[in-house]
Amino acid sequence: MLTRAFIASLAAAALLCAQPAAAQDKLQEKLKVIATFSILADLVKNVGGDRVEVTMLVGPNGDAHVYSPTPADARKIADSKVVVSNGLGFEGWINRLVRASGSKAPVAVVTKGVKPRRMAGGHGHGHDHGSDPHAWQSVGNVKLYVANIRDALAAADPAGKAAYEANAAAYSGKLDALEQEVREAVARIPADRRKIITTHDAFGYFAEAYGVQFIAPHGVSTEAQAAAKDVARIILQIRRQKIPAVFLENVTDPRLIKQIADETGAKIGGTLYSDALTDDKGPAPTYIDLIRHNIRTLGAALMS
Ligand SMILES: [Zn+2]
Repeated sequence: MLTRAFIASLAAAALLCAQPAAAQDKLQEKLKVIATFSILADLVKNVGGDRVEVTMLVGPNGDAHVYSPTPADARKIADSKVVVSNGLGFEGWINRLVRASGSKAPVAVVTKGVKPRRMAGGHGHGHDHGSDPHAWQSVGNVKLYVANIRDALAAADPAGKAAYEANAAAYSGKLDALEQEVREAVARIPADRRKIITTHDAFGYFAEAYGVQFIAPHGVSTEAQAAAKDVARIILQIRRQKIPAVFLENVTDPRLIKQIADETGAKIGGTLYSDALTDDKGPAPTYIDLIRHNIRTLGAALMS
C-alpha cells in the first residue's frame, strides 16, 4: 500500500511539473490571507473573490475570546501575505502569534475608523481598557470593515485593486439593503418590548445602532465568570420590567441563561449568533445570514 501511495504521489508531482508554466502561475497567484475568525473570513471572501485564498484561525461556532493558538496557526501565518484581525482587544493573542510565526505580513485591523463603544464598569479585556470589540453587530460598522479589507488586499496585491474595489462596492450595496431590513424588523417590535437578555454583552453596537436594549450577565468577554450579584440584578430587572425573552448564544454555555429563564419565567427566545458563524449546515454560514437569523429570532420572540 505504502509503495502504491508513494508511486501515486510521484505521479501527481510529475503531472504538476508537466503543466504549462502559465497554468502553474495561475495556481500560485492567489493572495493568501489569514482571517482571525469566521465572520472576518466571510467578509474577506466577499471582497477578495477568486483572487484570494482565505484561511481562518477560529472556525465556525468558535470563541475567539478564549482561543489558544497552536503551532499550526503560526505556520499558517508564516505562509500568508496579509493577516486580517478585528482589533479592539478581541483577539488578545494575535500580535504574539504573528511575532512567534516570524511573519512580515501586515496585520490589517478592520475596526480602523470605527467609533469604539466604551464599557462602563471595566468589563473589557484588559488590553484595551474597556473597549467593546463586537463592532460587527452594527452593519454600518461592517461597511468600514469592508473598506479596510479592500485597502489591505489592494496594498498587498496592487494588480487586483480594481477587482477589490468592485467587489467591495457590490457587497456594501448588499449591506445597505441588510441594514434597512434590520431597521424594519426592529420597528415592528413594540418599543417597550425591545429589551433583550443574552449571555455575554456582544450586542452593544447593535443596541446602539438600532435602538434595542441588551443586558448581559457576563460583560463583553466570555472569559470571566458572571458575578452572582450581576445575575441577581438581571433577575430583578426581568421581573420588574416584565422582559419577555432571554436568548442563548452559539459561543457560550447555555446553563446560566437557562437558570435565569427558570427563575423569572421569561421564555428562551432562541439562539443568537454573536461572535462566530455556523458551518454550512447551520443557519448562519455567512455574515448576512447571521444578521438575518438574529433579527428573525428577536422579532419572533419579542412580538409574541
Ligand atoms: Zn464576544
